Amino acid sequence: MNRFDYVRPETVADAVTAMAGGSNARFIAGGTNLVDLMKYNVEQPGRLIDITRLPLKTIEARDGGLSIGALVTNSTVAYDPAVNERYPLLASAILAGASGQLRNAATTGGNLNQRTRCYYFYDEATPCNKRQPGSGCPAIGGVNRIHAIFGTSPNCIATHPSDMCVGLAALDATVRVAGPEGERVIPFGEYHRLPGDTPEQDTTLKPGEIVLSVDLPDEEFGPHHTYLKLRDRLSYAFALVSVATVMKLDGDTIRSARFALGGVAHKPWRDAEAEAYLAGKPATHETFAAAANIVVAAAQPQSENAFKVELARRAIIRGLSQAAAGTPQSQSDKRIA
Ligand SMILES: Cc1cc2nc3c(=O)[nH]c(=O)nc-3n(C[C@H](O)[C@H](O)[C@H](O)COP(=O)(O)OP(=O)(O)OC[C@H]3O[C@@H](n4cnc5c(N)ncnc54)[C@H](O)[C@@H]3O)c2cc1C
Ligand code: SF4
Repeated sequence: MNRFDYVRPETVADAVTAMAGGSNARFIAGGTNLVDLMKYNVEQPGRLIDITRLPLKTIEARDGGLSIGALVTNSTVAYDPAVNERYPLLASAILAGASGQLRNAATTGGNLNQRTRCYYFYDEATPCNKRQPGSGCPAIGGVNRIHAIFGTSPNCIATHPSDMCVGLAALDATVRVAGPEGERVIPFGEYHRLPGDTPEQDTTLKPGEIVLSVDLPDEEFGPHHTYLKLRDRLSYAFALVSVATVMKLDGDTIRSARFALGGVAHKPWRDAEAEAYLAGKPATHETFAAAANIVVAAAQPQSENAFKVELARRAIIRGLSQAAAGTPQSQSDKRIA
């Protein structure tokens, strides 16, 4: 591990200033991802800005919805009464990830900005365009069972590993950030980016910006939601495919439905055409299968992960079926509904 400065600002303004003044500076929150990356020499910050003293630790009402501060831990969000009453999908998605100990330390802002779990990215002995731009992507044609099937580029086929973010994408959250030019709000679907020619950039955060909160809109889905996570082990494993679904029904007819997939792209993956198809249709297996087919038609699997295409298709059908029936997947007792 290299030597680095360490600063611990008390205000957001001081944190932004510290970022502007430090060479290769990084914010550190729970440290559950960044410290690992530093141990592997993937990240070599010249300055660590410990943001854990900033006043971003509350969950509060905002514009009829909820605003979750960037430093609220994943456990606090998952067990918060207002989150469970109004956005149980989010609680379920968080509880599907990591372990109790990790969720106690991990923060909302850190979860949003965690890096990919591509094996090559963590191994400094191999090339990797995300770690070292221009060095190549050995995952293409290499070991790529866990990699993306949507939105890849010739430069990178990594996936975004978060569960929480898949739930936030389906919920149409927004991300409030602050930086040298002031505050702005980023729609969740625009926060993470596809790899394109610059896979080293995971998000649309501008240099020096910090996440202040994730804000949930004023919307109710009753029991019509679910987070379904499919993985190699039933706990403590990243998603091969996950689906977060919310739905509004008029009797047996779908008024609107949104769903996001995890484990399949460089960002939580939504398909506007499939969501539009669902509106006004009967909530039947045939409808859900047709929507799933629209999504997977765009899949471009890698040499070892064609199985994800069929897994995604079936997961979408099951997720939509669970949401329509109001039988959400339980991530606490791992019950398969
Ligand atoms: C063994 C293991 C298993 C895991 N399993 C899962 C899983 O199944 N599902 C899942 O979703 N996650 C999983 N995780 C990942 C875990 O959820 C993340 O490590 C955690 O959410 C990161 O939060 P943190 O506060 O510790 O971030 P840190 O490690 O402190 O920071 C991570 C990144 O975010 C940046 N950052 C932090 N806060 C801010 C902010 N406010 N503004 C801007 N940038 C910021 C940092 O600079 C850094 O780049 C796992 C992790 C481990 C170690
Ligand atoms: S998939 Fe992306 S992160 Fe993985 S080796 Fe290729 S460039 Fe690096």
